[in-house]
Amino acid sequence: MDDAFLAQLRCPVDPQREATLSRDEQLLVCSRCRVTFPVKQGLAVLVPTEAELPPGTREVSQLPCQRALNRQKNRK
Ligand SMILES: [Zn+2]
Repeated sequence: MDDAFLAQLRCPVDPQREATLSRDEQLLVCSRCRVTFPVKQGLAVLVPTEAELPPGTREVSQLPCQRALNRQKNRK
């Protein structure tokens, strides 16, 4: 996985698909919500069910990107 490819990836949890990911050992870390995704055999597993939530976060709906989405919903 090279840097150019990595730059194309977006966090699958981010509703707006804007958050980029950075490499950290055998993980990819979302620049926005800090969720991490495993890299298995050189392939990033970018599926929400494989996501590891950051410490202190119990569920995906607590992430900053998700809360922003909920705020938008509530406004309508
Ligand atoms: Zn994210």
